[in-house]
Amino acid sequence: MKTIFNKSLIEKYDKPGPRYTSYPPATEFTESVGKEDYKKKLLESNQGKRPLSLYIHIPFCESACWFCGCNVIISHRKDVSKRYLDYLYREMELLGRYLDKSRKVVQIHWGGGTPNFLTVEEMEELFSKMKENFSVDEDAEISVEIDPRYLSEGQLETLRQLGFNRVSMGLQDLDEEVQRAINRIQPESLMRDVMKQLRELGFKSINIDLV
Ligand code: SF4
Repeated sequence: MKTIFNKSLIEKYDKPGPRYTSYPPATEFTESVGKEDYKKKLLESNQGKRPLSLYIHIPFCESACWFCGCNVIISHRKDVSKRYLDYLYREMELLGRYLDKSRKVVQIHWGGGTPNFLTVEEMEELFSKMKENFSVDEDAEISVEIDPRYLSEGQLETLRQLGFNRVSMGLQDLDEEVQRAINRIQPESLMRDVMKQLRELGFKSINIDLV
């Protein structure tokens, strides 16, 4: 029988390794880069007039998936996001001071965590703060990660009205045994319903994550 797997390769990588979601990774951040360096780099970056991408991290989730390696805070209390958003608005305001307003934001991504942890009102407020502090291009790709298990009334409609055109959601696995093993129970019917709604609302691009 033909061998499909390379055993020595599996043994070589069968150990915990770094998970790179940004470069340089957070483990390499040091105090040697201070706020003046940061300000200088931001101002220097304006010289090329290059467009901008914005990533907004919403770290809250209602329940933990066992496979997850993201930076998350598990909470059932909806009010935890308030303080976080206040700091986020402050950070956007500070950044907005140093970035040239003629630089268009051509990509926006709300990731997490679970951005649909936010209420409809919080989504609207966050979006309007983004527009206050940055020049969002009218053709920008605007995407959001959602957890279909915790979607509440009006959230998808609100995101679409705000201008979101791309959605990414975790399907993970349809096998119920796998779902139990990863602590993510999510019926296929729910996925189909959400997928249908997204198509009807006119989201241009829909991505699903598999575990
Ligand atoms: S919902 Fe997403 S971010 Fe939250 S714990 Fe599960 S996989 Fe991680």
